[in-house]
Amino acid sequence: MKKSSANQLQDLQYFGEFGGVNPSISDSSTYTFLSAKTMFDTFEGNTEGCYLYSRHSSPSNLYLGEALAALEGTESANVYASGMGAISSVIMQLCNSGDHIVSSRTIYGGTYALLKNFMKKFVIETDFVDITAIEQVEKAICTNTKMIYCESVSNPLLEVADLKALAALANKYNIPLVVDNTFSPLSIKPVDLGADIIIHSLTKFINGTSDCVAGAVCGTAEFCLSLKDVNNGAGMLLGSTLDSLRAASILKNMRTLHIRMQKHSYNAQYLADKFEADGFRVVYPGLKSHSGHEVMKNQMNTSYGFGGLLTLDVGSLENANALMELMQTQKLGYLAVSLGFYKTLFSAPGTSTSSEIPMDEQLEMGLSNGLIRFSIGLDNDIERTYQMMTDCMKRLEITGNSTALNTTRNI
Ligand code: PLP
Repeated sequence: MKKSSANQLQDLQYFGEFGGVNPSISDSSTYTFLSAKTMFDTFEGNTEGCYLYSRHSSPSNLYLGEALAALEGTESANVYASGMGAISSVIMQLCNSGDHIVSSRTIYGGTYALLKNFMKKFVIETDFVDITAIEQVEKAICTNTKMIYCESVSNPLLEVADLKALAALANKYNIPLVVDNTFSPLSIKPVDLGADIIIHSLTKFINGTSDCVAGAVCGTAEFCLSLKDVNNGAGMLLGSTLDSLRAASILKNMRTLHIRMQKHSYNAQYLADKFEADGFRVVYPGLKSHSGHEVMKNQMNTSYGFGGLLTLDVGSLENANALMELMQTQKLGYLAVSLGFYKTLFSAPGTSTSSEIPMDEQLEMGLSNGLIRFSIGLDNDIERTYQMMTDCMKRLEITGNSTALNTTRNI
């Protein structure tokens, strides 16, 4: 899969109300109708091009949806007020009480908590499996399984899902493969590998400016419409709607996504290579030592590299905390969760974004307590960044050889 999907995005062109080069922003929650009959027909979902109420849809949200559908190569896309709004809408739409989900065990902590704890209220059970072991995934599928759920590159362990193999399995059991592609926009295009529904937290790389939360669901026109159904649509009825002003600003930021992804990947690959050579335990899909390297290579668009995320194990939580604080004071980035910002962001996932996952399960999945997750920024001079990071480590006496895996949590 070498073809660039950026071209489809590039082909989109809008004219604003007064000929502006950006589409006009729909600054309204509700819309007038010249005839009562048209309003009724619109409620029934029969009037193409008419807007009803902005929780259902708005011109600005449709523009952003169109760009996301072009990005992922799907028929349609809906936008949501957050990534979790998108995920919960998909789950509630596809599952009824008594249904079952097979999910990767290494997923974003919030999604894990939603599936493991919250969905119990609705008697929707999830089996968490090692997504890289296809036979384990198949074994977990039951007659009431309604989806296979995974992240293309997982948060925070950067496991790479073999989407082709998973799609074949989903197809065999006639269930959808739902893929959260937040970590690898443009690099991986799940629909080309057979995935059915693609989810994004737009909060991350796609928006890229860390100024809002937003989410998206990309899929068939039928599925996207079903989410908006006024009688049965989870998106419409749970109400996780994106504000039009935000949709317009995300659309503008999305135009530089292809350039940003290349730079994030270039910088992350550079640091991963250097730190691995220095003897650190680095996890980055672009390293030959990564267990998912070959799978990723076979399913990625090489123009965009292996992504902007890497993890570094510095041996203990004390080391991790001290290093992150020092790097922040040295202006190397921010001790903050999230990803996809122009500055590097770092956090210890075990005590932050994955803290919803019980400790024994964290350790079982390889989430060690000295692990730092880095979302590598767009630094212009990455060699200088490497030197500065190395200086911070030296000051704290953290060396490549001192970072043996420590699996006892000491907080
Ligand atoms: N999916 C992944 C992979 C994430 O990392 C996150 C958040 O960190 C989410 C979904 C949730 O997105 P949001 O915070 O926009 O609700």
